[in-house]
Amino acid sequence: MLEIKNLSVEVGGRRILNDVNLSVERGHINVLFGPNGAGKSALLMTVMGFSGYNVVEGQIIFNDEDITNLPINERAKKGIGIMTQRPPNMPGIKLRDLFKITAKESIDIEKLAEELDMSRFLDRGINVGFSGGEIKRSELLQLAVQQPSLYLLDEPESGVDLVSIEKVGNKISELLHKDIKCAGERYKKGKSALIITHTGQILDYIEADRGYILSNGTIMCSGNPRELLNEIKNQGYGGCIRCKMMQS
Ligand code: ADP
Ligand code: MG
Repeated sequence: MLEIKNLSVEVGGRRILNDVNLSVERGHINVLFGPNGAGKSALLMTVMGFSGYNVVEGQIIFNDEDITNLPINERAKKGIGIMTQRPPNMPGIKLRDLFKITAKESIDIEKLAEELDMSRFLDRGINVGFSGGEIKRSELLQLAVQQPSLYLLDEPESGVDLVSIEKVGNKISELLHKDIKCAGERYKKGKSALIITHTGQILDYIEADRGYILSNGTIMCSGNPRELLNEIKNQGYGGCIRCKMMQS
């Protein structure tokens, strides 16, 4: 579904991502770990197509199509949706107005807003005066309404209190997994996701398929997400860097 091939990116003339290779198969949920400043957000912003992230090498392939040079709105139409780490305030634009453009037909906006405890925010300026948790819930509501096939989620749990984490975590799980549990197995919806997590907390709510560690603009390793998280907890990111150096 998503293939990032040998991607190098510059922002403001500075190289931020270097030869990044990463993929997400259809129906898979992959997580991206990494220290502050590693380039995690830059990677998601580049996949979405935000301006200022200049691809100097490599390709972004989505559903077998090269989207490296497509404008952001075309990528959204093709089914990519993002929850950014720091979304802007949009005074004068209500969530309800935005949904007139972005909502998939047959979406019950009122019900989704109620489930995320966002009903009273539908007629307010987007993110204006919202708390950290409210911003994350607003971003998630926007995605739930848009129904993308690839979810790019940038630290959905950061700056969120425990009650909101549960709401956000459960909603993400519901959007990505099928509700049916059969013989202990949870069946997936065919939705894919790439989720940045600093703390790994989101892993309590979703079943991730693969984890990647990004450090210094480069993928250090990939593997079982829970094992990677344990390694990070035990050795910090220094362990990954040593491991990478031993391999090369
Ligand atoms: P992470 O999400 O892993 O914490 P970011 O992707 O936000 O890291 O940032 C990676 C690096 O790119 C940082 O050094 C950051 O300062 C730099 N950077 C990100 N956006 C910009 C920008 N618009 N202009 C200049 N530098 C930027
Ligand atoms: Mg970030």
